[in-house]
Amino acid sequence: MSEGLFVIDRNRTILSYNHSAMQIFGIDSDVKHQNLLTVNRSIQFQKAIDEALCGRHSSETITMDDHCYQILANPVVQPTDSSTNSTQGEEDIIGVVILAMDITEREAREQYRREFSANVSHELKTPLTSISGFAEIMMNGLVRADDIPHFSKKIYQESQRLIVLIGDIIKLSQLDEQSELPEMEAVNLLELAQHATELLEESAKQHTISVSVQGDAGVIEGIRQILEEMIYNLCENAVKYNIPGGTVDIGVDARKGKALLTVRDTGIGIPKEQQSRVFERFYRVDKSRSKDSGGTGLGLSIVKHAAAYHNAELTLESVPGKGTCVTVAFPLYDGSENAE
Ligand code: ADP
Repeated sequence: MSEGLFVIDRNRTILSYNHSAMQIFGIDSDVKHQNLLTVNRSIQFQKAIDEALCGRHSSETITMDDHCYQILANPVVQPTDSSTNSTQGEEDIIGVVILAMDITEREAREQYRREFSANVSHELKTPLTSISGFAEIMMNGLVRADDIPHFSKKIYQESQRLIVLIGDIIKLSQLDEQSELPEMEAVNLLELAQHATELLEESAKQHTISVSVQGDAGVIEGIRQILEEMIYNLCENAVKYNIPGGTVDIGVDARKGKALLTVRDTGIGIPKEQQSRVFERFYRVDKSRSKDSGGTGLGLSIVKHAAAYHNAELTLESVPGKGTCVTVAFPLYDGSENAE
């Protein structure tokens, strides 16, 4: 049992406890017959016990050594004689059962969700405010006929940004919940890389960036739609954060039982201290460059989730002013299950 457990009497004397309770509360010698106060003196802990001693179920949260615990305290009631029609009072409480559960991860996840919701609202509000502003001045007849195409274009661009953003949020939540995901199948990474370069051809040409794909057919077991998205995001970044005349080299090869996908660019690079943060949701090194190129700040978090979903290892090497190389090492698909 991973939960810490104490049973105390109505005077708070410890009658019994388990090994997890010793670990959680850092108990290193026998505390049987001692007062529960010797275990933890925090106000919340005592409050949970006080409530239970008054006959009420109670729940409190306490923090110890960077861990967060939920304390559940339940009164233990003296069985009453049903023939004597008496009602239960505080005097019937003979003790309390206390459970301590480690909820650190759950709390961190909730905190993460709260921050994500706040960020999403902010990111949605910005383009919507522009759309509403442009539409309002057009509606009030404050725009000259010549300027209408310009204003309509702005409205179109901002609404496109919203569509892309909402699309990315949906993809992330599908990966988070692992719901509505199609079945795994054998997927050829080289084919996906070639497809991604075709989609990016136009934008690479505009920025005079040459893109090449090399390697062997690395076949892995995965979800095509997610892998397509992952490779596209990596290649798109390699083009977006590149310099005019730069290159993007995509490689797929099998080495040591792994299918390695590498996306290497000669672009602006990422400062060392920000390299681990770029996988966070909405984190951007240069906010305006990202926004100008239609970035949502979610591309690499989708990549990170997609890699984890496929048990792949993700590494990023980058030197500012020289370029970036992202490697995804997937377990190779041996097809043995389907071989017969
Ligand atoms: P975005 O939509 O802003 O591109 P991403 O999650 O894909 O969001 O990337 C997060 C940030 O990491 C980007 O805003 C950019 O600052 C940085 N970044 C990502 N890929 C590269 C790259 N290949 N070269 C330089 N910077 C990059």
